[in-house]
Amino acid sequence: KAPPSRKGSMTELSQDLLEQAKELERQLTVPASKLKEITNHFVSELEKGLSVEGGSIPMNPTWVMSFPDGHETGTFLALDMGGTNLRVCEITLTDQKSEFDIIQSKYRMPEELKTGVSEELWDYIADCLLQFVETHHPNLPKGEKLPLGFTFSYPATQNYIDEGILQRWTKGFDIAGVEGKNVVPLLKASLAAKNVPIRLTALINDTTGTLIASAYTDPKMRIGCIFGTGCNAAYMENCGSIPKLAHMNLPPDALMAINCEWGAFDNEHIVLPRTPYDIIIDRDSPRPGQQAFEKMIAGLYLGEIFRLILEDMHDNKPIKMFKGQDISALRKAYSLDSSFLSAIEEDPFENLQETYDLFVSKLNIAPSRAELEFVRRLAELIGTRAARLSACGISAICKKKGYDTCHVGADGSVFNKYPHFKARGAQALREILDWPEKKDPTEEDPIEVLAAEDGSGVGAALIAALTIKRVHQGNL
Ligand code: BGC
Ligand code: MG
Repeated sequence: KAPPSRKGSMTELSQDLLEQAKELERQLTVPASKLKEITNHFVSELEKGLSVEGGSIPMNPTWVMSFPDGHETGTFLALDMGGTNLRVCEITLTDQKSEFDIIQSKYRMPEELKTGVSEELWDYIADCLLQFVETHHPNLPKGEKLPLGFTFSYPATQNYIDEGILQRWTKGFDIAGVEGKNVVPLLKASLAAKNVPIRLTALINDTTGTLIASAYTDPKMRIGCIFGTGCNAAYMENCGSIPKLAHMNLPPDALMAINCEWGAFDNEHIVLPRTPYDIIIDRDSPRPGQQAFEKMIAGLYLGEIFRLILEDMHDNKPIKMFKGQDISALRKAYSLDSSFLSAIEEDPFENLQETYDLFVSKLNIAPSRAELEFVRRLAELIGTRAARLSACGISAICKKKGYDTCHVGADGSVFNKYPHFKARGAQALREILDWPEKKDPTEEDPIEVLAAEDGSGVGAALIAALTIKRVHQGNL
């Protein structure tokens, strides 16, 4: 029972709504000068994170100390504990350079586990691993254990590659009793209790996996990024530039992949242009005051920013949006995800039929033509802001490392599925780094952000392979 159509043609309302749209435009647009200011502050925060005193960006050493050369071989399991799915993969790095085979199974990550009890999480993961091994290795000789790379995509302190002391949950996870603990023994205990024949070889962040997996097939890759439910990047640093590791006496030119955890950038609110809506998101999140940058960019939050703005336009503005309609469905926090915005941005502007249908079916709201145009403009503003702010993080790493040209490997639902995210990010890089306009549109940009190889699967396997090689060589 669809409510009466309000779509119609443009009304006088549109003129007034235009005023409200302009105000949002002012709040959500980040001009080049601001992008540059953010980038410069970002560079100094990257440095601070590497210092002994530390800063707001964790800059976690990962003990991944080399790039792959493409000749890695062997069979490895990888476990990807992301925000949405749990994925188990088996990756075979073949004798052919930079080639691999992969088989995988996806398991749902039950919503209640994300805010539940620690043991239940590890037991669930161990069950999934056991099921995978029993299916794919029914005749595994007794006593043999399969090496596993565990992709744990949360900020973790690592003193060794097979350690991960959870600094804090992000992406809406909130499981008591895990923060401050090494998660490896927690998972190992569940594996042991269920006799799962697996040896945990390395704990990996998804960004580090993305960096290594991308470098396996493209030697120009220097940075691995995730723009998905959360957002973050990793890059390779020289140990001599990591004052907080000085006590380890590592050779200054030895490499160390750094998981930036840049979602925490500007937690002290110095430079990011936050709107009242960003402040509400932070206030009502399980971890207020944390992940300031991530909360303006990552997929988990884009739909919520959009929802909060529309709610405000209905409740508090002179031109009441969705006037006379029941907006109770729109009042439910986190009910719209970033795919809702993607669909709106993909909809042909001429009739915005898909947008109209989505509002009717998901929210029980029938927007007018003017409202549809408003909603479309709003999605563009939110998506554009996210892409432009992301470019500040990439530019900052490149500036810090002195990279004038390189490739950046990126993965995640926002990067892969959000319309125009790549082009908007590339445009922002151009503005921040003052590149001249291209003469030939097919020409590469000096810094290109490209779709990455599967970091949480292939990257985790490669890191497990590199770790085993390093241990055999005795240089841990
Ligand atoms: C986590 C990072 C992760 C990123 C992307 C963030 O919330 O803190 O560890 O790399 O999400 O998954
Ligand atoms: Mg992931």
